[in-house]
Amino acid sequence: MTTLVHAPRWVRRDARIYSYGMPCSYCGTHWGGYPNGCPVATCLACDTPQCLGNGLGRGTCGVCYLGLLPGWSGSNRGCGYKGCHDRAIAMAPRMGHVCASHALRAKHSRTETVAEYIVQRLAERDSAWILATAPLAQPTYGYVTR
Ligand SMILES: [Zn+2]
Ligand SMILES: [Zn+2]
Ligand SMILES: [Zn+2]
Repeated sequence: MTTLVHAPRWVRRDARIYSYGMPCSYCGTHWGGYPNGCPVATCLACDTPQCLGNGLGRGTCGVCYLGLLPGWSGSNRGCGYKGCHDRAIAMAPRMGHVCASHALRAKHSRTETVAEYIVQRLAERDSAWILATAPLAQPTYGYVTR
């Protein structure tokens, strides 16, 4: 897991960066008590570098919701398919966790596979998130406007 605090990462366009205290200058939160901002974590499924603080419950990615974010407890697992010993990259209903090749087969819903769902989330990322290559605001109030 990388712990660079100023590595490029995707952040929500509507991230609020506040001027008080020492929040992360990308996502604006004080998540995790990192004095210089969040380390970057890259989702194992959608490959999106993001603030480690984006992690959702159960260690999943804030962008694709299903991918596992290294650095969170529960994100280091094996694939749930019988006989498969690969590292899991995403959560899947019923199977628990699936590796990259089984994500192509495991269903997320009746009509979609885990991999198809993640591709859709990436399209959403491209409209609601931006790739920040430097701290966003030093310091500013309110919303970040692209
Ligand atoms: Zn952050
Ligand atoms: Zn992801
Ligand atoms: Zn597998």
